[in-house]
Amino acid sequence: MKYMDDTIVKGNLANERLKGEGEKVFYKTYNRFPVAFDHAKGVYIYDAGDKKYLDFGAGISVCGLGYGNELLNTAMKNQIDKGLLHTSNLFYNEPAVEAAEKLTAMSGMDKVFFTNSGTEAVEGALKIARRYHYNKGKKGCEIIAMQGSFHGRSMGALSVTGKDHYREPFEPLVGGVKFAVYNDLSSVEALVNENTGAIILETFQGEGGIYPATEEFLKGVRKICDEHDLLLIFDEIQCGMGRTGYLFAWQEYDVKPDVLTVAKALGNGVPIGAFLARGEAAEAMKPGDHGSTYGGNPFVCAVASAVLDVFKEADIPGHAKAVGDILWKSLEEIKEKFPELVVDHRGKGLIQGLEFKEGVKVGDIVKKALLEQQLILISAEHNTIRFVPPLVIEKEHVLEMQEKLTAVLEKM
Ligand SMILES: *Cc1c(COP(=O)(O)O)cnc(C)c1O
Repeated sequence: MKYMDDTIVKGNLANERLKGEGEKVFYKTYNRFPVAFDHAKGVYIYDAGDKKYLDFGAGISVCGLGYGNELLNTAMKNQIDKGLLHTSNLFYNEPAVEAAEKLTAMSGMDKVFFTNSGTEAVEGALKIARRYHYNKGKKGCEIIAMQGSFHGRSMGALSVTGKDHYREPFEPLVGGVKFAVYNDLSSVEALVNENTGAIILETFQGEGGIYPATEEFLKGVRKICDEHDLLLIFDEIQCGMGRTGYLFAWQEYDVKPDVLTVAKALGNGVPIGAFLARGEAAEAMKPGDHGSTYGGNPFVCAVASAVLDVFKEADIPGHAKAVGDILWKSLEEIKEKFPELVVDHRGKGLIQGLEFKEGVKVGDIVKKALLEQQLILISAEHNTIRFVPPLVIEKEHVLEMQEKLTAVLEKM
């Protein structure tokens, strides 16, 4: 606040000063853009100089309901007024029970464990896989993951992340992980042996460059898992919560996982994730096997519970599908207009990507969009721009994005 209150500091100077101060104190694992955000409303965010930006990144697919949603604000304020933000998991609390009831019902899973992040949800899912097979006398089961995948940065989640440059500096990681080729069923089959215990995949790869799984692939891995008693883990941390036009991406093809991870848009910005399981997998871990001090506290669960209400009542997945069609058309137009820059357009609903030709500096496009057009975009992989706006955007916002991005690309 001191920078906003400082009347001498105006406009870009406030952004500059926060950048300068931040660089001195933050552990440098990020290259941040020279913009400091301060407040937001709907699908627009304002920087420290009060400049207005159109948001097509949603805080990396998090703020599905945009900013300043009244129902969420009321839920947060009510919980604050009750004075109880945290209880620990040694007791029950109503928001957590409600959020759990809603999330299990809407996902068709039996049990849920709330975490503080997506990464922790993945950790829990991996522990279920090990525990499930341990219970049957198979210790240290192997896990098949996918090349190009992203599951998080902790040692466990990193172990199943299919990107060498993320993994190598931190090896040795958790052992027993093998990588198959996404959407290539025979590459999965080739890795299954008597020690295999689970297959983990994103139903739609986000960080890896915006690649949806094919129906054939999902059905095929489900069949392999059924035949070999393997747990099928779907990581829907990014693609779930309405983004593909379905509450969960697997619901489009009705290929149900045994274990499901959720996070990002579940809390619309408050840190909450979850792993869910069904059938025998839902009973695999025993009291004492897993825990979290904060996980599922009444504050974050009050928000998640309200998020789930809004998703249901306003049919947010249906809206994402409808506006997704408009986005599709708009990005097709951009692709056609700039054939010398854009090589591919992928995705569905409100998770779409434009892949640029090798050599095109996608980082420059993203930076120019931000600084010159006040359009927030994020990249995925090195040559793809990922479009993951708040799910509540309307046609007018898509057209505004198209205009701004076109202006940037015309100057490339
Ligand atoms: C973002 C993401 C994660 C990690 O979630 P965090 O909340 O950053 O820990 C895991 N899996 C997928 C698919 C993601 O997109």
